Amino acid sequence: MSSGAPGAPKAYVIGAGLAGLSAATVLAARGVSVALIEGAPQAGGRCRSYFDAAMGGVIDNGNHLVLSGNRAVQDYLSRIGAKNALAGPPCAEFAFVDLQDGARWTLRPNEGGVPYWVGRKQRRVPGTTATDYMKYAPLMWAGRKARIDVVVKDRGPLWRRLMQPFLLAALNTAPEESSAALAGAILRETLAKGGRFYRPRIAHPTLAAAFVDPALRYLGEKGASVRLSTRLRGLTLGPRAAMALDVPDATLPVSARDVVVMAVPPWQAAELVPGLTVPDNFRAIVNAHFKMAAPPGTPPILGVIGGTAEWIFAFDDRISVTVSGADAIVDQDRETLATRIWADVAEALDITAPMPAWQIVKEKRATFAATPQQDARRPVAKTRWRNLFLAGDWTQTGLPATIEGALRSGETAAALALRHLSL
Ligand SMILES: Cc1cc2nc3c(=O)[nH]c(=O)nc-3n(C[C@H](O)[C@H](O)[C@H](O)COP(=O)(O)OP(=O)(O)OC[C@H]3O[C@@H](n4cnc5c(N)ncnc54)[C@H](O)[C@@H]3O)c2cc1C
Repeated sequence: MSSGAPGAPKAYVIGAGLAGLSAATVLAARGVSVALIEGAPQAGGRCRSYFDAAMGGVIDNGNHLVLSGNRAVQDYLSRIGAKNALAGPPCAEFAFVDLQDGARWTLRPNEGGVPYWVGRKQRRVPGTTATDYMKYAPLMWAGRKARIDVVVKDRGPLWRRLMQPFLLAALNTAPEESSAALAGAILRETLAKGGRFYRPRIAHPTLAAAFVDPALRYLGEKGASVRLSTRLRGLTLGPRAAMALDVPDATLPVSARDVVVMAVPPWQAAELVPGLTVPDNFRAIVNAHFKMAAPPGTPPILGVIGGTAEWIFAFDDRISVTVSGADAIVDQDRETLATRIWADVAEALDITAPMPAWQIVKEKRATFAATPQQDARRPVAKTRWRNLFLAGDWTQTGLPATIEGALRSGETAAALALRHLSL
């Protein structure tokens, strides 16, 4: 099942999403014999790429944006030898269009920690004043029970044209009902530190090429075993330790010296591990992909205000659109969604051509709802079984469900596993 000297302790990592890949690569880097077990035929989980017949090429299940200040993303990519796998502008720059009045602007924050850019009218969101921006600072020290709408009362142009879309994208939940503490964590780590911490970064050319394939290659080089299409069906738990793993073709014994990292989604973890409290309320994301190169001059990412489309991503071979917190539209039929979203794209990018070949990808349980109530249900990585640890964007990372959170959760579980292994 796994490599390593006979009798050496093993680390079983269940789930090859980014949390599992993060834990597995940290453990493999430290010389641990790793066995990664994934239920789906491919690794990547909610961050995956696949060949799509309608699009005639490889697409991502959804556009994933990370920011240059995401520390765990940088560490992970360095570890797996994919440091240069993300693309983005050399400095923080965000283009927007407001479909309601046709206004267009580009937000150009300065690089350093003192936000003098908010003092310059031409660099700010149109219709805002410098003092509007200060109204969001209290989010950074909000308590874990507070909702954003209680902490921030602003509903003016800054809210509508920047903070509402930014927070919706980061939290995948209507900001009004979302946790102020989770929003505050994002602000502290990115916006409050200056533009060089929030340069937008996108996996290029696909999510798999940046986040998944290099990790699998790295694990292969380290002698780890990776089994795809192998669903963990059950877990035998003794009073103090995990003792066996049930996979379709075998029961794998787990000795007290071995470790198990469960990096599966929360509903799966709750089924496998008794007595676990996990988030149980989720929000959808809809992505629309159109087989057409964006017109020359289109920014790599365009924020859309006042439409169904929220963020338009321009790739060499396709235009992709993200709609977050999409529960209100996710059940509409795919043709209706494609037509509706294409209308926004055509207007935003000034395209007169008819709608090209398209694909709609619906992720109904894209992330847990980032409300204070759901945040309170997130367990820590340690369990009452001393060789069993949890990972996943839904564990208690202090961040919303993001790539950065998933990768950090894997690091945390791996650190606990290494301690158990006395390494
Ligand atoms: C459409 C979409 C857009 C997103 N956009 C962004 C973004 O722009 N920026 C950002 O930072 N984040 C974004 N996210 C969130 C990000 O994708 C997730 O936070 C991250 O991928 C979660 O990784 P994970 O490993 O915690 O979970 P998952 O990716 O869910 O991984 C869990 C893995 O466990 C496997 N599994 C389940 N049950 C079993 C079992 N019994 N046995 C074995 N394996 C099992 C699953 O198949 C899966 O591979 C987006 C998510 C979606 C869906």
